[in-house]
Formats: sequence, C-alpha cells, structure tokens
Amino acid sequence: MRVLVVGAGPAGLTTAVTIARYGVPVLLVERRADTTSLPRATAVSTRTMELFRSWGIEERVRAAGPDVSWQARVARNLTAPDGVVADIGFPTREQALAVSPTWPACVPQDALEEVLLEHLRGFPNVRVHQATEVTDLHDGPGGPGGTVLARLRDRRTDVSRIVAAAYVVGADGPRSVVRDAAGIGTEGPGVLADYSSTMFHAPLWEHLGERRHGIYPLTDPAVSGVLLPAGGDRWVYGRETDGRDGTVDLLRAATGVADLRPRITREARFTFTVRLAQRYRTGRMFLAGDAAHQITPRGGTGMNTAIHDGHDLGWKLAWVLLGWAGPQLLDTYETERRPVGLRNAARSAQPDGSYRAAAGELANDLGGRLPHAWLDRDGTPVSTLDLLGPRSTLLVGPRYTGSVTAGDAPPGRGDGRPARRGAGRRAAAAPRRPARRRAGSTSPGGRRREPSALAAGSACGWRRPGRHTAPAARRAGCGRRSAAPTGRSRAARPAGRTARAHLRRCRTGRASGPRPGTERRAWRRRTSRRRTPTGTSGRPAR
Ligand SMILES: Cc1cc2nc3c(=O)[nH]c(=O)nc-3n(C[C@H](O)[C@H](O)[C@H](O)COP(=O)(O)OP(=O)(O)OC[C@H]3O[C@@H](n4cnc5c(N)ncnc54)[C@H](O)[C@@H]3O)c2cc1C
Repeated sequence: MRVLVVGAGPAGLTTAVTIARYGVPVLLVERRADTTSLPRATAVSTRTMELFRSWGIEERVRAAGPDVSWQARVARNLTAPDGVVADIGFPTREQALAVSPTWPACVPQDALEEVLLEHLRGFPNVRVHQATEVTDLHDGPGGPGGTVLARLRDRRTDVSRIVAAAYVVGADGPRSVVRDAAGIGTEGPGVLADYSSTMFHAPLWEHLGERRHGIYPLTDPAVSGVLLPAGGDRWVYGRETDGRDGTVDLLRAATGVADLRPRITREARFTFTVRLAQRYRTGRMFLAGDAAHQITPRGGTGMNTAIHDGHDLGWKLAWVLLGWAGPQLLDTYETERRPVGLRNAARSAQPDGSYRAAAGELANDLGGRLPHAWLDRDGTPVSTLDLLGPRSTLLVGPRYTGSVTAGDAPPGRGDGRPARRGAGRRAAAAPRRPARRRAGSTSPGGRRREPSALAAGSACGWRRPGRHTAPAARRAGCGRRSAAPTGRSRAARPAGRTARAHLRRCRTGRASGPRPGTERRAWRRRTSRRRTPTGTSGRPAR
C-alpha cells in the first residue's frame, strides 16, 4: 500500500525521497505544474546537508548556489566598507567540520527543489503528478484504521479521480488541505508583519570581493531590510512593506552602487507569520513542514525544519509499512518534531531572532543523530555518517569477528514495538571509542561476548549472568538476560526451532576471537580488507 504525499515543496520532496529509498511505493502530487520560480529560503543547514550527503546529492546541491559564509554582514548598505560580521546561528565551514562531514550551503529554494525532484524521479517506486491537487480526503474502507481515500483533481483537464493510500502526508504548506481534512487547528500569534521582496539581477559580487555572505542586513533607515544572494547574479531585497516598490533608485541606495543597472524581475508580498498545528497527526494523516508550522525567515530555520520533518516522518512510515516496527513508532513523529517546530517558530517570532551564537543552534540543528567521526576505510577517510545505509546499519568495534547475516532483519524489539531509544546510539558510538563493552569485545572478566548475537539477534548473545527475557530464551528455559532484539521476525520461525537454536547458541562455550595484545594487530590486518558489516541495530540510521 502506497503513501500519498501532498505537496512537492521541501517537506514533501524530502518525505518522498526518504520513503522511496526503502522501496515503498509513493505517490507525490503537486498543485503547481512546475517547481517554484521564487528563491524563498536560501539557508541550507549542516544537518540538511548531511541528509543530502547520505543521498549522494551533496555536491549537486552545493553547486546550485554561491559559495558564501553563513554569517551576516551588517552595514549601512551592501558595499559599505565599515560593516560588522555577526553570528546568525549557522556555523562557519571550520566550525561545522569539527562535528560533521559537511557544512551549511547557500542554495535558493527553487534550485534546491529542482535537484530534489530530479533525484526523486530516479526511483522506480515513485510517481509524481504535477498540476494535480488534492481537493478532499476521507477515511477509506476499514474506517480510520484502514486506508485514506483522496480526491485528486487534474488542473489541466479538470478531471477528478479517487486514490487510496495507507498514509497521507500533508506537506501542502500553510493553507494545508490535509490539515483541514484531519480537523487539526493551529495556534500562535499569526501574522507579525507584512514584507515585500524584490528579485533582481545585477553583478554585485564584483563589488564585494572577499566579503561573501549568505545575508546582508542593511542598517540605513532609508533602505533598512536585507539583501540575499540567490544564485548567479540574482539577488533578493527584502524589507518591511512601506508602500514603495523596489525601484532602481531604491536598489542603488540599498547596494551603495550609484550607477547600478539592476534588471528587476519580480516584486512579491509575503507575511511574517508564526503558527503551529495543534497536532501533527490524525489517524493516518500527518502534517509536515509549513503545514505543521509557519516560521518567519528570521533564523533561516523554516525550510530546514520542513526537511527534517520529512526525513523523520519518511523513515518511520517506511519502517511501519515494511513491518520493521509497530505502528506505535508513528506516535514518536509528533513527540520528536513538534517541540522543534515550536522552538524554531518561537525564535523566529522574536525581533532579534536572526542573531544567535552558532554553537547552540548547531547542536539544535544536528539533534540526536549519530555522532560524526572520521574513520579510515581502505585508506579513504569516511565519516561514521557515511556508513549508514538506506536500511539499518550496525556499527561494531575493531575486535568484531562474527559474521553478520541479518541484512534485512527487522530492528525492532521483536515484539512489534520500535527499538529502544539509545540502543543504536550505543552501537553507533563504537567506532569513536571501541571500548570493552561493545559487541564482539572482551568483557571485564576476560570472557568473550558473542558478537554475532547482536548482529543476528540471538536472544542470549551477551554472556553475562542474568535472566534472558526474550521469548525464545523463555521458551528454552534459559536463565540468562537478553541483550539484543531478535534479528528476524519471530512470527516467521516456529517456536520450537527458535528455542532450540537459542539453547545451542547459549550452550556453545566461548566464541573464539582475538585477544587483546599481540593477536589484535594480526586480526586487524586480516579484517581491514573486509567491508564494514551491516545488519540490525536498535536505532535507525539517522
Ligand atoms: C519570502 C520567504 C523567505 C523565506 N526564507 C527562508 C529562509 O531563508 N530559510 C528557511 O529555512 N526558510 C525560509 N522561508 C520558509 C520556507 O520557504 C518554507 O518554510 C518552506 O517552503 C516550507 O516548505 P514546505 O514544503 O513545508 O511548504 P511549501 O514550500 O509551501 O510547499 C507546499 C507545496 O504544496 C503544494 N500544495 C498546496 N496545496 C496543495 C494541494 N491541495 N494539492 C497539491 N499540492 C498542494 C504547493 O503548491 C507547494 O508546492 C521563507 C519563506 C518565504 C515566503
């Protein structure tokens, strides 16, 4: 059963790509016949770039915008020599590279959407219908627990049809049809200010030299507002609406270039609005991006929050549809993402919301993802984040000798519930600190743990005293404690066989493996040619 994603903005495109990577069918519908031609958001955060890197499109995305520093240069006008540089919550390239394999980019939203859409179209399990809008949604057969029926109208032919979906993602922006159909209200201060933006082309980089920034706030009261580079010689001049359009004279004053001959291509009005959906979900309908939260451009978090929503919801929907986790996993979408939306919306409502120290905001941007560390793979540096595959990934310490065969195994607890929080984080930390209490390591008592148990999910893989709690261990009458979830679906295995297999593992003495000291180097040499094994971990690759 497919997922219907409504809206091909950053939230919808990210949701669709994330689900598509798992092979789950996706139908993406977009009201517009084409991608937007408005630059809108230009700040692409460190975490967002990490996601693009994991999809293999980091370089394409970065190449779609100018190379700038994501600090503001505050001055009377664009070219005034006496400006100051201020932190706006984004790290410099050097700061980002201390904790990440990548760094923020400056890419106009219209260019970014094109890259994402092209990437999405490469998946065989995705259908994209443009010039198609969702007009209404209802619970399908089976009621709220079954499917959702959506009416799609082709805007070119005016023909409507009904499609059924297992889940619907409303990534349809601030005036979300899905949010209305789901009966979800909004809260928050609403419209804070009216803004105008003038899009124009002019060769301004040649006046700026090395002073290349993602945003230029202007302090001269006659032109106060911001100038933003939007790719090539395209620029946006945004300011609180004062009845004036962006004339050539106004742009000359704002840039400080008296003989500037700008080509003005667009004048737009928009509002600074702060609103948050009261819930992110009703039954099988979910909200993501601006449908869930409206955030002003202050702080540059609106589009990034939308993208992170889409990623979080995407993998969770895929996991549930693949049977890797129970539907309760979907409850964590709102509990994890709504506080982020609330925080970023609140920041953007503050008049000084643009200005924040980079360190604090970087931590918020990265969230609780796997820590980054550089590793050596056959002489090539790779980030721990690069090791995460599209499915689930097990990271093990350097003493690992077991084989991993659980490639597609469900990483839940084996009882339909999602894996415990933090289980994967512990596993993920292994390359940074290959300590003794990692899979495949030697316990303090000198006894060897069974590494393959963590990978393949034996119910008694960790040989330490205690009662095994997993069903297989119970059925086998084993008195040890389980340390890891079963790798394969228990339902697929007969209880007797599972129990016998459990006992066999449990009773087969110590696993042979490298001991600390002299053997370790030889073992490293032997194993350095192996591919990093992937299998199951408690937590998804995030
Ligand atoms: C002027 C401006 C400047 C901004 N600057 C920044 C910035 O610097 N940094 C930042 O992070 N954010 C910024 N933002 C915010 C950012 O643009 C949004 O947060 C972002 O676009 C949200 O993405 P989304 O996918 O949730 O929604 P949208 O981009 O609004 O996409 C929703 C899509 O759904 C489609 N749709 C709507 N209804 C239907 C329907 N019924 N059926 C089918 N399709 C439908 C729409 O056509 C649209 O394509 C800015 C916004 C504006 C307006």
